[in-house]
Amino acid sequence: MLIDQTQCDACKLLLHPSHPEHRPSKGGGGIILLDSNGGGWALNHYAGSGVYLGWMALLTVGHKEQISDLDSLELMSLGTHLQRVDQYLRDYWEQVFHDPIEQIYAICFMEGLHDQISGEPTPSPWHLHFHLIPRFKSMDQLMREHQVTGSSGINAWNIYKAAKRADFPVEYIPKEETIRGLMVYLAGRFGALLHLG
Ligand SMILES: [Zn+2]
Repeated sequence: MLIDQTQCDACKLLLHPSHPEHRPSKGGGGIILLDSNGGGWALNHYAGSGVYLGWMALLTVGHKEQISDLDSLELMSLGTHLQRVDQYLRDYWEQVFHDPIEQIYAICFMEGLHDQISGEPTPSPWHLHFHLIPRFKSMDQLMREHQVTGSSGINAWNIYKAAKRADFPVEYIPKEETIRGLMVYLAGRFGALLHLG
């Protein structure tokens, strides 16, 4: 890796989860370290505009930039973690919101690499992560009414647009207390430590 990790936002979050920049109001909510051996994978609530409660990021603890960078332990545990996050999110929404999750999109974009390049190529601080994006039953009508669904009805890309609409379900607009509640639940299900922001 040619990356200076002090330039990588994900590495900074992992090193200093309690830093004010990583408060839940910034989209944080803490970090769950999923592998007790200290390496492997971590889970946090994804930050950024247009996201909503339940939009998670599964990221490597060490700085990795692409799937081919993963070591054998990271590769072996990836599938297990993806499946467990998927199941625990579904359980949480059933129990807390009584609003079934109909789909969870697992997406690795890695397009930010291009954001970092302007003119001369520069080292990218991009850090490997998977987006885990739930689509709830309550979103169906909203997405259809606004015709953000395209010809296929519902798709992962347009869910991002739906989240920015004024009539998006208010309970899923990210708030510190609701993100924290979800993170505490997920840490409990994983039997893992939640490093609070
Ligand atoms: Zn990093």
